[in-house]
Amino acid sequence: MKHIFDYTRDQLKAQMKDVGLKPFRADQAWQWIYQKGLADPEAMTNLGAGDKAKLQENINFKLPEVTAEQKAADGVIKWLFKLEDGQEIETVFIPQGKRGTLCVSSQVGCTLTCRFCHTGTQALARNLTAGEIIAQVWLAKRQLEDFTDADTARKLTNIVFMGMGEPLYNKDNVFDACRILMDEKGFAMGGRKITISTSGVAPEIADIGEDLGVNLAVSLHSADNETRTKIMPLNKKYPLEVLQESLKNFRLRENRRITWEYVLLKGVNDSMEDAEKLLKFIKPFPSLVNLIPFNPWPGSPFECSDLEAQKAFRNRIAKAGVDVTLRLTRGEDILAACGQLRSESSGRSTVSLEYPSVVAVYGNEKQKKLSEEKLKVKIESTEGDS
Ligand code: SF4
Repeated sequence: MKHIFDYTRDQLKAQMKDVGLKPFRADQAWQWIYQKGLADPEAMTNLGAGDKAKLQENINFKLPEVTAEQKAADGVIKWLFKLEDGQEIETVFIPQGKRGTLCVSSQVGCTLTCRFCHTGTQALARNLTAGEIIAQVWLAKRQLEDFTDADTARKLTNIVFMGMGEPLYNKDNVFDACRILMDEKGFAMGGRKITISTSGVAPEIADIGEDLGVNLAVSLHSADNETRTKIMPLNKKYPLEVLQESLKNFRLRENRRITWEYVLLKGVNDSMEDAEKLLKFIKPFPSLVNLIPFNPWPGSPFECSDLEAQKAFRNRIAKAGVDVTLRLTRGEDILAACGQLRSESSGRSTVSLEYPSVVAVYGNEKQKKLSEEKLKVKIESTEGDS
């Protein structure tokens, strides 16, 4: 039996018809579920007893279990959700000013073995259904007490597909989940508020722009084929030239840009030569570069770049007029890195890693002076922590 969160509104209308209910009941159910935060037919007071019974008989309303909730001192929250088949997935909430970003998983484990990524050490168990992706958002909103009519008061404002898994290897379900997130009668999130992050599954990238109009982030991490293949084996299949070509076919909406994720690994991808290669690669695109200091985990073959190297790399990108952020570790007092809480839960050894967050944006002269000051404070506080 399909889960209620699996249905787009049109699909739910068709299902209502199939079980002998009026299609408009789908709109009513959606209001209860996605606007009022009540995913239980018994609570839907504008449905009669017969209609409620039909829904219960034909649609699965069982919610995943919240098996762990960890809150960091800086407000980052990480949840572990147990699915019906016992698999567990992670979801992380990162508050930052008025913005609250939820990082959702698209697969249980991952096939791609990126060598700096903790999830890459976990074999793929399976793809998530659209409903299991939506469940992460719905449960996060419930835990945050964020089902409210007032737009301005919303805690959860943005979604990023940067949790466990490669979203484009589960494209149909991820796309359906995006449609549900964007539906005006559902969560009503704009495409600008949703970002799909890919490690570079070139043939599928264009569809993100054509079908959905959400934002695109690319986990790049190196603009040198040899280095990138070493740290991201997928690069062998889709090398940089192929990736760049596919990105040129991506229909970027007006006033949007591609976000490039770049984990700084000491002596691997953090030299000035690497920065030059990165600039050359991203030149054809409106860009935002997110630099992420690596925080090593046991068994990881990398070290974090020195602070001087991080700053020099960031300055080189900014000097070229490209917006760049250097991220600060977040949620350090919880197991906030992708895949770690799940490892902990399944009894594998692990330690706290980082969850990244933007600390300063460069490339805009007006903003730069203010951001330099903020960055100085943040970097000093990071130094003090280590
Ligand atoms: S970075 Fe993403 S694609 Fe690569 S192993 Fe980790 S979860 Fe998979």
